[in-house]
Amino acid sequence: MLVLATSLGAGKACAQAPATETQTPSPVVAPAVGKNQAQEHVQVHRFWDKKNDWLFAGIGAARTFDYFSTLNLRRRGDQEVLLSNAIVDNHAEFAVIEAAGTGVSIGASYLFHHYGHHKLERWTSIVHFGLATSGAVRNYCLKTAHPRTGP
Ligand SMILES: [Zn+2]
Repeated sequence: MLVLATSLGAGKACAQAPATETQTPSPVVAPAVGKNQAQEHVQVHRFWDKKNDWLFAGIGAARTFDYFSTLNLRRRGDQEVLLSNAIVDNHAEFAVIEAAGTGVSIGASYLFHHYGHHKLERWTSIVHFGLATSGAVRNYCLKTAHPRTGP
């Protein structure tokens, strides 16, 4: 196998292509194998595993970050574009909305997990985390009292 790969690499002059072809799924991916091999095959994980714990914690943190950055933005007299100013100025209600966003996201992840879409399950959290974080950073990056003429 190794000899074949080496000769292919020499023949094609580009070692990258045959390298990907020879990467067949191997049992090396899952070290420290459990006792029953059936579980290893399906690769089902607990919903509240470490990865999801961290992802959900990240979403909560990003949401909190967004919450405070939006309040910070409002104090400087700028406009919150996604929600109405009335809601944002009602801090308790706004906090509930942020928390609800986190809950909905976890619920969506759970549904994906339940139906076996574990990749989508993770991506829901990752995308949500990215959106919340970038939104918060954008809030902080908006400068105070610069009347913008452009779009
Ligand atoms: Zn899952």
